[in-house]
Amino acid sequence: MGGLFVPATIPSLPPNFLEEELNYKQTAQKVLESFLTDFNKEELQDCIQSAYNHTKFDVDDVVDLKHLDNNRWVLELWHGPTAAFKDVALQIMPYFMDVSKRKLKEQAHTVILVATSGDTGKAALEGFKNCKGVSIIVFYPHEGVSEIQKLQMETTDGNNTYVVAVKGNFDDCQTGVKKIFGDNGYADELRGKNFELSSANSINWGRLCPQIVYYVRAYQMLLERGVIAPGGMVDFCVPTGNFGNILAAYYALRLGIPIRQLICASNKNKVLADFFTSGIYDKNREFYKTISPSMDILISSNLERFLFEMSNHDSAFLRQIHNDLNTTGKFTVNNDLRNTLGSIIQAGWVDENKILETIGSVFRDTGYVLDTHTAVGVALCEGRDAEVPVVIASTASPFKFSTDVLRGMTQENQADEFVAIDRIREISGMTVHRALHGLKERQVRHNKVIQIDEMKSTVQEIINNISNP
Ligand SMILES: *Cc1c(COP(=O)(O)O)cnc(C)c1O
Repeated sequence: MGGLFVPATIPSLPPNFLEEELNYKQTAQKVLESFLTDFNKEELQDCIQSAYNHTKFDVDDVVDLKHLDNNRWVLELWHGPTAAFKDVALQIMPYFMDVSKRKLKEQAHTVILVATSGDTGKAALEGFKNCKGVSIIVFYPHEGVSEIQKLQMETTDGNNTYVVAVKGNFDDCQTGVKKIFGDNGYADELRGKNFELSSANSINWGRLCPQIVYYVRAYQMLLERGVIAPGGMVDFCVPTGNFGNILAAYYALRLGIPIRQLICASNKNKVLADFFTSGIYDKNREFYKTISPSMDILISSNLERFLFEMSNHDSAFLRQIHNDLNTTGKFTVNNDLRNTLGSIIQAGWVDENKILETIGSVFRDTGYVLDTHTAVGVALCEGRDAEVPVVIASTASPFKFSTDVLRGMTQENQADEFVAIDRIREISGMTVHRALHGLKERQVRHNKVIQIDEMKSTVQEIINNISNP
């Protein structure tokens, strides 16, 4: 299993659950209670209140559901502090960690290590900044993130945040972090000094669980608006990278939300689309840098967890594919399993042109501005049957990927991301997301650049300077 945690049993919601009128926080309470059984009601309530409020999210209900056209709906998940959907999970996860540590009487200072290709780093920094008993170190590829993403990270405040640029690519960062986690000698040494290392990645259950909530909430919103009748089916379409977000939609289905189909949307790095079509997962292929960079992934780490569920917890099979993937970069599932997967997942992909075209046509037809990731999902949901509404997860604010979004809207080529933000605002009349508004004027607080082989010594140096009572 490669150490992935899955719940032993998947709960289901009480039968009358969807008849109650619940807001986001109340829904979160019910959903999280059913999964996170180690926490009591009050503890969860505290976590929810602390994470999901107006200082952190700029809409009343944490997420927003917008009608696009016909039966297409967009679920805006980017109203949190960093303009990416990852905020929904990473704002609450630190509170979970705090409660767990208190329950376990864990005294050690936690050091969170994150390797990021852009969005996760900033969302994790915002989630964990100023948390007591925790420090966070984020590594990102020196020349490998957008100007906006870089500035978002570099300007992070907080007394426990560290941001380090690595002269390498994202894989180098990830491998470096994995090496540090795998270094048992170092872990022991840290234990002796009362430190523990931890991660914030999407294979963490405390990260995945909060994402289930918004699929449940989206269904309720469709009910409230009379789009569906009780029990009516919906489809969800998710722009996918690591398979975390769509896995959360699958757990919503298992909870009892009437979901007909999950549409797994990929960009040109279509390893998942190929897998669901052919039954063969093969990461031995060219890697493309695309305009939807958060989906540029060839190993979708949460897929294993999904296959574990779909194979009825067949751990021998899981070991087999895990092993195959590690040794050959490839694995195959049999036809039976492939058909089972096909009964739930429909997968597809679109190329770069189609993304830009979709941003343009949707803007012209509806006035709505899509970001380059959401556009992948919207493109794949063109011309679907009108019977069943489809909700497309919108994973980032369009201002975050401004130059490409502007190019899609008007075919203007504007290399400066901040000028492009202004242009999008002018043309669309939208308010610039507060995460990006005035970003350029903020003070840069982190500017460390290191070589790949300096990652461990950098962590050591940072930890040596953390005072740990
Ligand atoms: C992280 C991210 C994704 C991919 O989500 P996964 O859970 O990794 O599948 C898609 N879009 C954006 C904007 C993201 O930041």
